Amino acid sequence: MPAPLHILQHTYGYPSFRGLQEDVINHVIGGGNAFVLMPTGGGKSLCYQIPALCREGVGIVVSPLIALMQDQVTALRQLGIKAAALNSTTPAAEGHAIKERMRAGEIDLVYVAPERLVTNEFLGVLAQTPLALFAIDEAHCISQWGHDFRPEYMQLGTLGEKFPGVPRLALTATADAPTRRDIIARLGLEDGKAFVAGFDRPNITYTIVEKENPLAQVMAFIKQNHAGDSGIVYCLSRKKVEETAVSLTAQGVPALPYHAGLSAEVRAANQNTFLREEGVIMVATIAFGMGIDKPNVRFVAHLDLPKNIEAYYQETGRAGRDGLPANAWMAYGLQDVAQQRNFIESADAPDAQKRIERQKLNALLGLCEATRCRRQVMLEYFGDGCQPCGNCDTCYTPPVTFDGSVAAQKALSCVHRTGERFGVGYLTDVLMGVSDERIERFGHDKQSTFGIGAAYNKKQWQGIFRQLVSLGLLQVDTENHGGLHITEQGRAFLRTKEPLALREPQARKSKAPRRTPSSIAPVDAGLFEALRAKRLELARAQGVPPYVIFHDKTLHGMAAEKPTTLAQMAEISGVGEAKLERYGLAFLEVIENASTLP
Ligand code: ADP
Ligand code: ZN
Repeated sequence: MPAPLHILQHTYGYPSFRGLQEDVINHVIGGGNAFVLMPTGGGKSLCYQIPALCREGVGIVVSPLIALMQDQVTALRQLGIKAAALNSTTPAAEGHAIKERMRAGEIDLVYVAPERLVTNEFLGVLAQTPLALFAIDEAHCISQWGHDFRPEYMQLGTLGEKFPGVPRLALTATADAPTRRDIIARLGLEDGKAFVAGFDRPNITYTIVEKENPLAQVMAFIKQNHAGDSGIVYCLSRKKVEETAVSLTAQGVPALPYHAGLSAEVRAANQNTFLREEGVIMVATIAFGMGIDKPNVRFVAHLDLPKNIEAYYQETGRAGRDGLPANAWMAYGLQDVAQQRNFIESADAPDAQKRIERQKLNALLGLCEATRCRRQVMLEYFGDGCQPCGNCDTCYTPPVTFDGSVAAQKALSCVHRTGERFGVGYLTDVLMGVSDERIERFGHDKQSTFGIGAAYNKKQWQGIFRQLVSLGLLQVDTENHGGLHITEQGRAFLRTKEPLALREPQARKSKAPRRTPSSIAPVDAGLFEALRAKRLELARAQGVPPYVIFHDKTLHGMAAEKPTTLAQMAEISGVGEAKLERYGLAFLEVIENASTLP
């Protein structure tokens, strides 16, 4: 039997295992069942691919999306591994041939959709196939708690009875505890071992800015940090997706829209361009992202607030799968809070569920208004933790706080005295003592709260009101033109007058994050671009995404080491034997040409 490390080094071209990989692999090779929780980019695929290669027989991988399967199979074939996918798009003759090879044990890995796996026909094929293992990828799809629930996944629970002795592993990056417990119960993995890595994505820099002019802000963020990079911009509505894509493109940043209102063809075409070309930005609703395996998404930007921390973590987690530095950037404002609160209240859900959703939204707002390390806040939410990370906006530029008790009291009494029906703009004018015809008409210029807030400017009052809404002391009536009213909690605050620390508005300068210290600028930018061009050319010729040929990280390695022989090339991380043979000379030539240029 080949040793796992030998396969890692020779087939994949990686020098060593990461984190829990080796433990999982040895456990499964020994015949054990496993539950594997690793963050995105943690290297889950190797946890089942290498045991499948080491053990006798065929490894069966259950995967929820055709695009995902196809990508994995393409990548495996590039490594010289015998892999195939069986799904609704597989031509009958090819499907037949794959099943023949399965029975003969002549294939290493077969990817199937759950619907296909549980058919009697396919179970019959499996009964005649020597089996190495079952891997259930994206296993949160089996859980009623996961957002991607797929009823077909439920039937996978019987695999253990049908194929005793064949190890089963479930893999997921989903962080919440109920989902985890549910996966283990439904797949009958209680007798197996759970491998749980931390949730941290150290290569992602988190930044949350106050929303002013989101289009201009996101444009500045991209220009400053991500010229030529690929990324995802999330918006809540289809209309905003369209507008944002048009606006970015008009300003010279190639962007495509993706939302459920577009035809299946347009969506597929846009996704394909995003995956196969370099430097394309996808502007999308959350309909986009599941199963997107593109490793070099360099940033995820949110122009609207997601619904909770789990969603934020999952969506931002699509950045930097390759481990290179990546940015998660979000613009957030009062309207977002109002909108998300309104979604919850107007939904047709039982009270108990609404209560949970309110709590989850509050936790997310806590993250947005955090005055300490954002990574800490997020990891603590998942029951994990860390030291201040030094790689988020609040670590780079610690926010200034002030005692906001008096300001909050003034704001709340102004809301009260004006009848709990006006919006932030009006209330701010009253507080600052700026009269206009409307304020005079209502007689609010004669009231005791008129002009009591002159110590703060407009922007500061906006920040104060936003935080009071985030903290749940005030609520926005979206039905009633954004009028604010005082909540129970707000009234309690007025009675007890407890101290309240608030955040100063962000300085305008910190609108966009600087490049992180571990900047991804390659050692030799010119050579890196030349290598990237060669990669794109080779990828286009085969009709595959560029990253299945080599990852950016591998190209960075080449640009830094400048190998001149195949033996030196083989030392670069990510250059395995099959790729060395196929592409080694082509890339050596690029390096040589670059070095002979004047
Ligand atoms: P996940 O499925 O957990 O999101 P992947 O399995 O796609 O992660 O792995 C993420 C990236 O890290 C892939 O590009 C993979 O090739 C790479 N990788 C995985 N394990 C290692 C390793 N031991 N050394 C170097 N790179 C690795
Ligand atoms: Zn931090």
